[in-house]
Amino acid sequence: MKYFLAIIGGGPAGYTAAEKASKAGKDVILFEQNALGGTCLNVGCIPTKSLLYGAKQYYNATHAQKYGVTAENVAFDFAAMQKRKTIVVRKLVAGIKARLNNEHCTVVNGVAYPRPLPEGKGEGFLISCNDVTYEAENLMICTGSTNFVPPIPGIKDNPAIWDSTDALAAAELPKSIIIVGGGVIGMEFATLYHELGVPVTVIEAMPTILPNLDPEVVQILLDKYRKAGINILTSTKVEKIEGNEVFVSSLSEADQSNIPSFSAERILVSVGRRANLQGLEALNDLELNRGAIVIDEFCKTNLPNVYACGDVTGKIMLAHVASRQAEVAVGRMLKQIPLQRIAYNAIPSVVYTNPEIASVGITESQAAEMSIPVEVNKLPMTFSGRFMAENEGETGLCKVITDAKNHSILGVHLIGNPCSEFIAAASFAVRMGYTTAEFQQVVFPHPTVSEILHEAI
Ligand code: NAD
Repeated sequence: MKYFLAIIGGGPAGYTAAEKASKAGKDVILFEQNALGGTCLNVGCIPTKSLLYGAKQYYNATHAQKYGVTAENVAFDFAAMQKRKTIVVRKLVAGIKARLNNEHCTVVNGVAYPRPLPEGKGEGFLISCNDVTYEAENLMICTGSTNFVPPIPGIKDNPAIWDSTDALAAAELPKSIIIVGGGVIGMEFATLYHELGVPVTVIEAMPTILPNLDPEVVQILLDKYRKAGINILTSTKVEKIEGNEVFVSSLSEADQSNIPSFSAERILVSVGRRANLQGLEALNDLELNRGAIVIDEFCKTNLPNVYACGDVTGKIMLAHVASRQAEVAVGRMLKQIPLQRIAYNAIPSVVYTNPEIASVGITESQAAEMSIPVEVNKLPMTFSGRFMAENEGETGLCKVITDAKNHSILGVHLIGNPCSEFIAAASFAVRMGYTTAEFQQVVFPHPTVSEILHEAI
C-alpha cells in the first residue's frame, strides 16, 4: 500500500500532523524510535513541569509563614515525585496513542530511513524501518533535536556530567549541582533544585541569564534568585571540567592568570539543542542551514513533497511552534484554502521559574534593531489586587511594547505568577495586530492577575 503521508518522529509536530492528516481521511504512517510524545512529553516540558510542581508545593509549604500559616515537619519524597512524574507522562503518551489509533493512523516503533523512489518510478519515498520497507507519497520530517554537547575539555565520558534527560531520570537528588548554561533549561532546573534545598551554581557565558528575554524582566528573577542563595555567574566561560570540578574564567576581566574552580556532585550541561538529522542521509540534496532543515512559510523543504516541522527546522525550539507548523504543513499538503501561515511574530514563550516569565512579540532592543519606533509602558505586578493577595513579598513586571505610530501591540513581557496562564491573551493581541484602543475594549475578570494587561495596555 502507498501511504499519503509518512511522518518521521512522533513528538508534538509528528503526532499533530498525523492526527490532522488522518482526520482528513488520508492514509498516514508515523515512525517513532522511542515513545510517542517526543522530547516534550517524555524528557522535556511535561516531566519538568511535574517535578517543578512538586518542588513548588514543598517550597510554598516551607515559606507559608508570610500568609499566617506554619507547618512543621514538612518533608518531600523525591522518589514519590519521580513516580508521579512517570505516571503523568505515561497517561499522556497513552492518550496520544489512543488518539492516533482512533484516527486509524499506522504507528511503527523504530528508526526510519527514508529515500526517494528510484528514478523513473515517479514521485514518492521508500522508508525502511525494522527491515520492512514502506512507500509514501509525501514525507514529513519531525525528528526533533538532541542536547548539544559543547567542546569543553573533560565533558565526554565524565560520570559527573548530566544533560537534562539524565537529570530527569535521576533516582536521587544531587547533593549539589553546577548548571552550565543559564538558558531556559538551566534556569528551570536551577528552580527545581533550589526549591528542594540543593545548593545551585549557574555558569552563563553571556552577560546575563536568559539572554533572549527582556533584560528588565530577567533582572527581577536574577535579583530574587541571587538573594535566595543561588550562585549565578554571568560573563563566565567554562575552560575545562575535571571530574566534579569546573574551571572557569571571567569574560569581563583582563587578568585570566588565576582560573577559579567550582565543585559539585553533579554538573548539568544545558547550552542548547541541535537538530536531529539521524536517518536522513539518503535525502542527499536536502537543504540545511547551520545544521537545521531549511523550510519555507508552509514548512516545505527544497525537495518536492518533503516537509519538515519542529525543532529539526531550527526555527524556534518550542513544542507549540512544532504543532502549529504541523497544522500549516498538513493544510498545505491537502491544499486547504485559505492556506495558513505561521505568525512567528506572535509566538508566546514561558520560562517556568518561580516567578514565571512569559513573553510574546518583540523586545525594546529588537524594536531598535528593526528601526521600529516604539512606546514602552510598564507596570509593576503589584498593581494587580489578586497579585498582591497571593504573592506576599514578591515583585513583578508587565512591560508592553507598542508601535509609536499606529499604536499596535508588538510585544508583552511579564514576570510574576501565574503569567504563563494569561500570556495567551497578549499573544492574541499581537497576532491580530490589535491597537491599544482595541485591546482596551476587552473586559478582564476581576480579581485576576491578568488584569495587569488591561491596566498596562
Ligand atoms: P538556550 O539556548 O535557552 O540556553 C542555553 C544557554 O547556554 C544560553 O544562555 C547560552 O548563552 C549559554 N551557553 C552556551 N554555551 C555556553 C558555555 N560554554 N558556557 C556557559 N554558558 C553557555 O538552550 P537550553 O536552555 O539548552 O534549551 C534548549 C531549547 O529548549 C531552547 O530552544 C529552549 O527554548 C527550549 N526549552 C523551552 C522550554 C520552555 O518553553 N519552557 C523549556 C526548556 C527548553
